[in-house]
Amino acid sequence: MSEELTAWPYQEAREILEHLDRIDSEKGDKPVLFETGFGPSGLPHIGTFSEVARTAWVQRAFSKLSDRPTRLVAFSDDMDGLRKVPQNMPNPDMLAKHLGKPLCDIPDPYGEEESFSGYMNAKLRSFLDSFEFDYEFVSSQEQYRSGVFNKGLLRILECYDEVRNVIIPTLRNPNRDEWSPFFAVCENCGKVNNTRVTDVHPEDGTLSYVCDQSFRGADACGHESTVAVTDGNVKVGWKVDWAMRWYVLGVDYEMYGKDLIDSAELSSEIVKILGGEPPAGMFYEHFLDENGAKISKSKGTGLTIDEWLQYGTLESLAWYIYRKRGKAKRLFFETIPRSTDQYLEALTKFGRSEDETEKLDSPVQFIEADRIDAGEDVSYQCEISYSMILNLVNVLNTDDREIVWDYLRRYDESVDNDARILNDLIDRALRYYRDFVLPTKEFELPDEEVMVGVRQLREFLASYQGNDPEQLQSATYQAGKDNGIKLGKWFKSMYRMLLGQDQGPRLGTFIHLYGVSETLALIDERIAQAESGELDG
Ligand SMILES: [Zn+2]
Repeated sequence: MSEELTAWPYQEAREILEHLDRIDSEKGDKPVLFETGFGPSGLPHIGTFSEVARTAWVQRAFSKLSDRPTRLVAFSDDMDGLRKVPQNMPNPDMLAKHLGKPLCDIPDPYGEEESFSGYMNAKLRSFLDSFEFDYEFVSSQEQYRSGVFNKGLLRILECYDEVRNVIIPTLRNPNRDEWSPFFAVCENCGKVNNTRVTDVHPEDGTLSYVCDQSFRGADACGHESTVAVTDGNVKVGWKVDWAMRWYVLGVDYEMYGKDLIDSAELSSEIVKILGGEPPAGMFYEHFLDENGAKISKSKGTGLTIDEWLQYGTLESLAWYIYRKRGKAKRLFFETIPRSTDQYLEALTKFGRSEDETEKLDSPVQFIEADRIDAGEDVSYQCEISYSMILNLVNVLNTDDREIVWDYLRRYDESVDNDARILNDLIDRALRYYRDFVLPTKEFELPDEEVMVGVRQLREFLASYQGNDPEQLQSATYQAGKDNGIKLGKWFKSMYRMLLGQDQGPRLGTFIHLYGVSETLALIDERIAQAESGELDG
């Protein structure tokens, strides 16, 4: 069966199996390690969420193909130096004084945690916890300072020239011959970005440095010293750091953004020099904002996770992230309803499927992993789309969830079976309507040509006894056609009159949902509003 699983997380999982074959499973019973990295120079964002989510999906796929135990580690680079003062953060003057220090040694600008990175790490954890990811948090500074990385640091010192020979040809810096993978944390001023290695002493595991590099206008203190490379006295530059982490922790899988493809290749070369094996992994495209620019954590542009969750469900966001992983995607509000409806369709298909392979291969398998594992029913049975709810809220012009429920029950008596999902959708539809639709509504009464058709439809509705969406659709269509109105114009005019917008749902479905007599009353209300001058037209 496993060869029939073609969803991308399985393809990744097979790469891991090959990787494990390559390293000859020397790890024995050691769990297969999935790593995801976080840079705590800013708050976690949609890119952080998607990297962890995608890695967790690959981990799940792996567990379907293999019995080996797995671990997911979220690794925070909190030994990195602060390179610039982030925008939109309190106490920028204080932060400016600490430029170049490891993030873990800088006070928290928010005054809540013991350090800058302590604050970001806490945010990361509560962020990941809120999505119920099953992960272990690992801090870089703890690995360095507790000695976990000592083995790797000493190994880099042993292979010093080989490691330098990988990186130096890629540098444009005129001082590149002086370049060292090591950066000492100055014992005098505490900065890591201002020091320069002057000599290494592999025989006793030490190096000498001088703190003389001006960094972003900040003067260096001039301190000179010789220190052990172990126990957090020095850190290594990040491409080497990445390789060392793979080597020491034995990382088997890690994905990374497209901009890091070259770096990943260099880190792979380095981990081999150290005596390790690069993990399996893939690159992904970054999300773009509405202008096509990469969403940046320091500038805070683009749609945020919080914003998405205001107007769309978590599952719809996960669906958006799951699909087309290799393509750059723009994130803006219009993507939310479409993504939500596509996900509802996937849920319905999943619920109806009897084929175990098809179910394992479905995105739903990954997005609803926790519910599926808990034996919960994740199907979505009714045929009510998020767009329909948005349209209904639109025409009901309400902020009352119960009123929407009344209408949905009229449409389909079994909707209560899907109450969990529908409640989620209704709440978000009410917000979406209030924040985006309401401010842009422009009702308009049709011109006289179209009004002839409206009157015909009105007469039909006044005498119609049933409530069949197909009959209602054909009567609506007929009212336009009988009166020689171009259909594009006819439907657009109807939408502008009823909904205040140029597009809308299939009118038969809409009337069925909203109610025949209610639609009749709405048409009369619009005509009355036009006559009293409330409506442009
Ligand atoms: Zn210094």
